[in-house]
Amino acid sequence: MNHKFKPATRLSIVFILAIVLSGSILTYFSINNISNLKELTEKRIIEEQRELYSRFLVALQNKIEEVAAGINSEILQSGLMKDSLIKRAADHGFIIQPFILKSSGQFIYPNFTGIPESLHELTFSNRFNAAFNEGETAEFTEKDAVKAEKYYQLSLNYSTGESDSVKALNALGRISVKLNHAEDAITLYNLVISDYFQVTDRNGYPYVYYALPQLIRVAGADNAEKIVPVVEYFLEKMTYGSIPLNFYTGELLIFLTKWLRENTFNNTEKLLHINKLITDLNQQVQFVNVYGNELSELLKKGNTDNNFTTGNDFKVVNSFSGSNQEFFLINTNFKNPAGFLADHNKLFDTIVKTGLQEGFEFDYKIEFPSGYVSSTAWHSLIYSSQLNPWFPGQLIQIKPDDEDLITDLIKRRSWIYGIASVMLLLAMFLGVVLILRDISREKHLARLRSDFISNVTHELKTPLTSIRMYAESLMIRRVKSDAGQKKYLSVVVNESERLKRMINNILEFSKMERSRQEYHPVETNLSEILHSAILDMNYWLEKQEFTIITEIEKNIMAKVDPEKFHQVFTNLLSNAIKYSGDSRKIYVRLFKNSGAVITEVEDEGIGIAEDKLTKIFEEFYRVERQESGEITGTGLGLTVVKEIVEAYKGKILVDSEIGKGSKFTVRIPLHGT
Ligand code: ADP
Repeated sequence: MNHKFKPATRLSIVFILAIVLSGSILTYFSINNISNLKELTEKRIIEEQRELYSRFLVALQNKIEEVAAGINSEILQSGLMKDSLIKRAADHGFIIQPFILKSSGQFIYPNFTGIPESLHELTFSNRFNAAFNEGETAEFTEKDAVKAEKYYQLSLNYSTGESDSVKALNALGRISVKLNHAEDAITLYNLVISDYFQVTDRNGYPYVYYALPQLIRVAGADNAEKIVPVVEYFLEKMTYGSIPLNFYTGELLIFLTKWLRENTFNNTEKLLHINKLITDLNQQVQFVNVYGNELSELLKKGNTDNNFTTGNDFKVVNSFSGSNQEFFLINTNFKNPAGFLADHNKLFDTIVKTGLQEGFEFDYKIEFPSGYVSSTAWHSLIYSSQLNPWFPGQLIQIKPDDEDLITDLIKRRSWIYGIASVMLLLAMFLGVVLILRDISREKHLARLRSDFISNVTHELKTPLTSIRMYAESLMIRRVKSDAGQKKYLSVVVNESERLKRMINNILEFSKMERSRQEYHPVETNLSEILHSAILDMNYWLEKQEFTIITEIEKNIMAKVDPEKFHQVFTNLLSNAIKYSGDSRKIYVRLFKNSGAVITEVEDEGIGIAEDKLTKIFEEFYRVERQESGEITGTGLGLTVVKEIVEAYKGKILVDSEIGKGSKFTVRIPLHGT
């Protein structure tokens, strides 16, 4: 056994070792944890990427099924396939073009008529034919427009159906242009477009194809705005498929675009609509041109090896005609096969935006690269797969949004661990300091206690010795005179009073320690209590020839315990006497001041150093000083004073200067005592 350490020090060493050991273990695990973090995070990322991939596939399937299911139910309800397809296309941004086909592969919608297989032989009445022929002869051979107009008008009167009427109206329109009858021409072509837009000539072309350019030309810049509604009407009918598209449509659309550019129009809303209709129509024309063959091939083959069928009989077929981002969603089981051309990149984008990443710890980027992607430095964190079974061959790549994710994470964690470790170390250090401080305080207190015992013994002995000595002298009748005996007796009485005061302080302190003090507050005349305390000390004051200067206001009342306050005053007076040094003046004051009772006991004695002013109220504390080495005491007097005063919500203050004296002020509030 090493006997060098005292038990307390040994305990603190054990404690410090325990803290240092646990701190080191914690730090070790923190460092270990950081190195595992990379692996763990990578695993977590891969798990989340897999989950994201399967969420994507489910959402993709749902979206395709949603479009397909919608069509089926709408067709069943209303029987209007075309309307249903157009509505779907408008609802879903990824749909490029809806279509309906004949089983032969020709288009029903977009309504495209190619070169008619046979000429329509239209038979009109003889009267009509005769009048119309006369008109044509007059117009083209005789170049007599007025005459021609007359015959065309006649033929119109003879017309019996739509085809002959529109033929006559068309011819009349042409003549009005030649005759410079612009107003008439506009009215006539307006009529052809709005009432006879579906009627075709013997070549199978609708008359409106002739009428519209004519109308635009005859209207010129002046009347351009006026014919906007009829142009819009024409384009709407064409977009919807009521006026068929043909090989001239593209040209007509170019003509219209040029017209729009060259003229000024006020109605911007209508203009925007017309532009949109032109764009739609261009797309329809292009669609027919680019995908027509592929679609009829598809129908002929019936099935392809490269497709996937939804629960609603719609097939997803990748298209090879346009760009490689396009696919058909087609149902070949309908009497008229129908479906959409759609952009799969746009479809994927729509799905990516549907909050797939909710609940994930990290953020990811989803990309759809075409073809093989070369590796990158952080390849291990890229999840790549094909979009089977919907789009075989199409890659999906998922990667963390932040490329430095893991390094950042480790950096952040290292910081947290670093800060935590520093805090732990600080806490450990603080703990050790506090414990050492407690130990030294405990030691100090133990020393004070042992000083106290010897002080108390000494303190008690002094009066006891005097009492015994004087009492013995009286007993053996050494003093004969009455006055002498009285003097001896008063010494005995006063010394026993001093003894009582000391014992009272010790008792009060011991009660204080056990929190057992009892106070019996009553309305007390503090002035009288103070006078009686001075009287009790009178023997000592006179003995040492003190002059006591009092300024005590009469009848100052307070609700306090009279005995305890008596103790307070005698303790302060006894201190003033003890620590007066060579001075022989003590001032005692009692007065009221702003709601409080103030008692002051002031001496002109040895004073107290500033750094000791708060300590003197601590238990057992005694100022160690050379010059007062012989002044005895217990170090409890002021502790007891403070305790009593504070029990009445009062305050004890000290004002002192070495060599000049001290002033103790007790301040008791009048209310709340
Ligand atoms: P004790 O007087 O028994 O030592 P106290 O608690 O009454 O204990 O006082 C504590 C210390 O405060 C004293 O040891 C003394 O050094 C200092 N002290 C108290 N009163 C005075 C005073 N009036 N003048 C100078 N020092 C004082």
